[in-house]
Amino acid sequence: MRLSKEYAYERIKPADDVMHEECGVFGIYMNDKTYDPAEAAYLGLYALQHRGQESAGIAVADGSGIRVHKGMGLCAEVFRNSLGSLSGGHIAIGHVRYSTCGDSAVENCQPIVLSYRKGKLAMAHNGNLVNCEILRNRLVDEGMIFQTTLDTEVMAALIARFSKLGLIDAITRMMKMVRGAYALTIMTEDALIGVRDPRGVRPLALGKLDDNYVLASESCAFDAIDAEFVRDIRPGEIVVIGKDGLKSFQAQASRETALCIFEYVYFARPDSDIDGISVYRSREAMGIRLAKAYPVCADLVGGVPDSATPAATGYAAQSGIPFAKLLAKNRYVGRTFIQPSQSLRERGVKLKLNAMKRIVHGKKLVLVDDSIVRGTTSKKIVEMLKLAGAREVHMRISSPPVKFPCYFGIDTPSHEELIGAKKSVEEIRRVIGADSLNYLTVEDLLKTVEGAGCNFCVGCFSGEYPVDIEKANKETESMKLSAEE
Ligand code: AMP
Repeated sequence: MRLSKEYAYERIKPADDVMHEECGVFGIYMNDKTYDPAEAAYLGLYALQHRGQESAGIAVADGSGIRVHKGMGLCAEVFRNSLGSLSGGHIAIGHVRYSTCGDSAVENCQPIVLSYRKGKLAMAHNGNLVNCEILRNRLVDEGMIFQTTLDTEVMAALIARFSKLGLIDAITRMMKMVRGAYALTIMTEDALIGVRDPRGVRPLALGKLDDNYVLASESCAFDAIDAEFVRDIRPGEIVVIGKDGLKSFQAQASRETALCIFEYVYFARPDSDIDGISVYRSREAMGIRLAKAYPVCADLVGGVPDSATPAATGYAAQSGIPFAKLLAKNRYVGRTFIQPSQSLRERGVKLKLNAMKRIVHGKKLVLVDDSIVRGTTSKKIVEMLKLAGAREVHMRISSPPVKFPCYFGIDTPSHEELIGAKKSVEEIRRVIGADSLNYLTVEDLLKTVEGAGCNFCVGCFSGEYPVDIEKANKETESMKLSAEE
């Protein structure tokens, strides 16, 4: 469903500019003492750190209440002296978050914890709702007070509101009202709950550690605690894990699934499997397809580390051109440093990546990156490689041009800042100074994830979104906010 331009800017953009997040969620229910849940959550969140570096939090239930510790910074910083205060429970959920503008305040750290008629409830959310503003305003009009600007709090408020229906029905009612992307870990004082939106836009996987169940945004978090991957949570499914094991409820039909393809292109870790597809293998396949579609005579192939390395190895294998490390990466430059302004962003690229002068000097290069967003990275890198003596730099991008913002939980800048929205491929080539530039087509990209148990959202490339945002907002105006249907 394509958004009308006016609607996209006037109605959706302002809210979108505020709430732009990327997140990772985790949850564990321990029946035995193999792990302290807070420690397991800490390790799991560490493995999900790539999904958000701005804040981290863990909430623990111990049968007599819920304790939470959260704060701004990386997992290691947030929990340096405080993991001990969370020890001793039997359930834990955790969250890592990155937000781009405005709301990076400590009160917006997750998990959020609230008291409702049945006790306490903690909740961690990955994704973004598109009808949240209207829901929030309607609840505020009724006198409700919110302490954060998070979609998560609106979802939790709806669950609390419908709680006299029972928890599962309350979550189901909430799911009927919210539109957009959500992968949730929820914790009551005696249960761990996982929820995935009916389109399955964001991933959520189920793992097992002996008799203990684990939930995580990505399977790489299971490896960190020696848990086994069991399966992906199905779109529209609620799983409830308690002392009697796991119960599954298909709360909403999942007819038109739309897993975010950008998880495979850039966001997820290469050692994760999502909905039956290895992220690494899909990236490698992207490189192979790029090499078939856009061959070039060159001496070396390299990827922009780290996310484009698998695609570069795929390109090298298919083309027969040797793979080489063309750029060194400084692993200590975080995204938060690069983000605030364009000038810092440009300096940030230089600090983060440097040309391997002795390798590239006098060579014709193929440089593979996973995406071009603003164009800042590609322009700087091509300049660096040429200054280091590269004779030619041919850019190959393992995704189509990013032309549209994401409303479902990937951090993309506004439409205005997306170079792919404004310029043709040839114009972009000139801006970044490459000798040639080619992107993968949407059709080719989709072939690299063939065999997944779902369909995909390619909204950032096509402008076709899985949710009709205009319709969702209209419907929200007249939704019943009381427990009675
Ligand atoms: P840009 O410099 O704005 O063109 O961004 C492109 C670079 O950022 C590529 O090297 C990507 O690997 C990386 N990238 C793409 N999407 C994201 C994202 N959502 N958050 C952070 N980095 C990204």
